[in-house]
Amino acid sequence: MTLHGGIDGRTGSRVSLHVYIDALGRRMIVELRRFCEESRTLDAAFSPTQLPRLLDSVADTAGGVSMQVRGWIDARDRPCLDLRLSGQLWVLCQRCMRPMAVDVEVGQTLAFGDEGADEVLDAESVEVLPLLASVDLADLAEEELLLSLPMLPRHRDCEPPGPATTGVATPFASLKSLLDEAGGSGSTGGQD
Ligand SMILES: [Zn+2]
Repeated sequence: MTLHGGIDGRTGSRVSLHVYIDALGRRMIVELRRFCEESRTLDAAFSPTQLPRLLDSVADTAGGVSMQVRGWIDARDRPCLDLRLSGQLWVLCQRCMRPMAVDVEVGQTLAFGDEGADEVLDAESVEVLPLLASVDLADLAEEELLLSLPMLPRHRDCEPPGPATTGVATPFASLKSLLDEAGGSGSTGGQD
């Protein structure tokens, strides 16, 4: 693992000793409380190839996402991170099974503290996580990106692939055959 600094987005100065980034940018570990107490900010950019779990969920290695993180301490003395993610990723259209671009816009506040979220203070935009000594910002970004991807992405206007032009079975085709089987046997019970 290589240790070097990132760029402090607020002051433009190098951040040293606070951020551990490996050579491929896959890990971005900060000392959480220190990062927040010093009101640090950090700008970074990711391509899908740097985030293995995200890579499993996209259709193409093209695209990219920029991230801005701001640390602060809330009224309950909890380290908090404002996480902004913005960019474009390619997912598989579930109708024509071709790649399609989706715009990604995430704005999320993460508060790190012991359980017992305060319903008054913790607005819906605040996600409460267990307190940690250090966090991997790349990991947090990946998690939020996975949550932001559409469940059933579809082009606004496209056609399902014709049987003559492709041999790729769609999830719906197999679902239909399952339904046909269930309907044919007249049974609604599970297999186990
Ligand atoms: Zn499509």
